[in-house]
Amino acid sequence: MTQFVADRDDRGNATARCNCDECPEQIVVKTNYITRVGDRRPIEINKTKALMRLQDVGWTYVKNVLRCPKCEANRKEKTVSKEPTIVTVTPPAAPPLRQPTREQKRLIVAALDDAYDMTNLRYKGLETDKGIAEMLGDGTMPGWVAAVREDMFGPDGNEEMSDLAGEVKDWMNKVDMELAAIKTAMLAIEQSRAEVKKYQDRLFKIAAAIGPKAERV
Ligand SMILES: [Zn+2]
Repeated sequence: MTQFVADRDDRGNATARCNCDECPEQIVVKTNYITRVGDRRPIEINKTKALMRLQDVGWTYVKNVLRCPKCEANRKEKTVSKEPTIVTVTPPAAPPLRQPTREQKRLIVAALDDAYDMTNLRYKGLETDKGIAEMLGDGTMPGWVAAVREDMFGPDGNEEMSDLAGEVKDWMNKVDMELAAIKTAMLAIEQSRAEVKKYQDRLFKIAAAIGPKAERV
């Protein structure tokens, strides 16, 4: 069917009757003729002007195909469905953290029973979570030991650490006391020096009173 047919409305204005290429839909839009009255060639409408009006009401003209809004919508839908389906590739989830078996848990509890000092809430001797894990072996993770310990026994730390901390504290006290002793001694020295000065002053006064004779003393 002819896409653009020159026509005139009731008032005699130039119009274009436009036909959808894909269905019987028809629309009349205002335009003007690019051919003059009296030209020999058949009347030709101003296509550009007609297309502007068509565009305003949702018609399209793509690759020489004129489509009404409905057919344009269908075309777009088809184009979209033709597009390759985008497959979202989800990266494989990180493997869940290894968990202890029941048997491993029981072994950890048994080891902690031996190694943990429930009275002082610390490991006995030099023991640590890592030490227990290494002792049990079989893929036992220090984190599993820590979890069981926190849950059923008590905080981290061991006797050695507590002892060292105690020793550090003792030594710090000793240093503080020695510093205090030095301060006291310094004060005594200052006082003695003041005394010495007093005697020295008296000696000078006497020497001055006696005069040159004293110099022979
Ligand atoms: Zn149509």
